[in-house]
Amino acid sequence: MAAVGVKLGNIGSHWTTACKQAVTDLNALFRHKGVTVTLAVNGAGPIISVRTDPGIAGTAVHGKTSAETDGAGKLLRADVRLPVKLTINSPKGIRDAGTGMAEVIAAHEFVHALGHEPHNTHLMAQTLNKVLGDRAAGDKLQAGPAAMPPLQLSDESIDMLKGIWG
Ligand SMILES: [Zn+2]
Repeated sequence: MAAVGVKLGNIGSHWTTACKQAVTDLNALFRHKGVTVTLAVNGAGPIISVRTDPGIAGTAVHGKTSAETDGAGKLLRADVRLPVKLTINSPKGIRDAGTGMAEVIAAHEFVHALGHEPHNTHLMAQTLNKVLGDRAAGDKLQAGPAAMPPLQLSDESIDMLKGIWG
């Protein structure tokens, strides 16, 4: 089982919670689907460094990830940047988006960091649409039929990750 560390910078309590949830839920998905890599906050192995970037709009539903790999495509290190603050339009005006929505964005970037470059479906879709919850905790991101959380990786994405990590 390969181990990958996730190093959280000074990203605030909202993103810290969301990133920890993304690590927990991705690990459960990987275990369930037989992808032999495990993420751990402050863990050993190649490191995914996470920070916020004021240059990314809070209205965006994507971060930015760059990953450095060895000749065999294995991760050496990755840099994940997230919007400082996430917002969503509600009938009462713009408000902060919930942790669930943030988790989906963090998980999407973590999977990019693990070597999944293309955009296909579900978690790794190119277009994720905001779905307003009754409360912030109910906010979701939708890709086709998949409204997340819970995180959903397509079979195609699972196969791609197995190709990289076994
Ligand atoms: Zn992406």
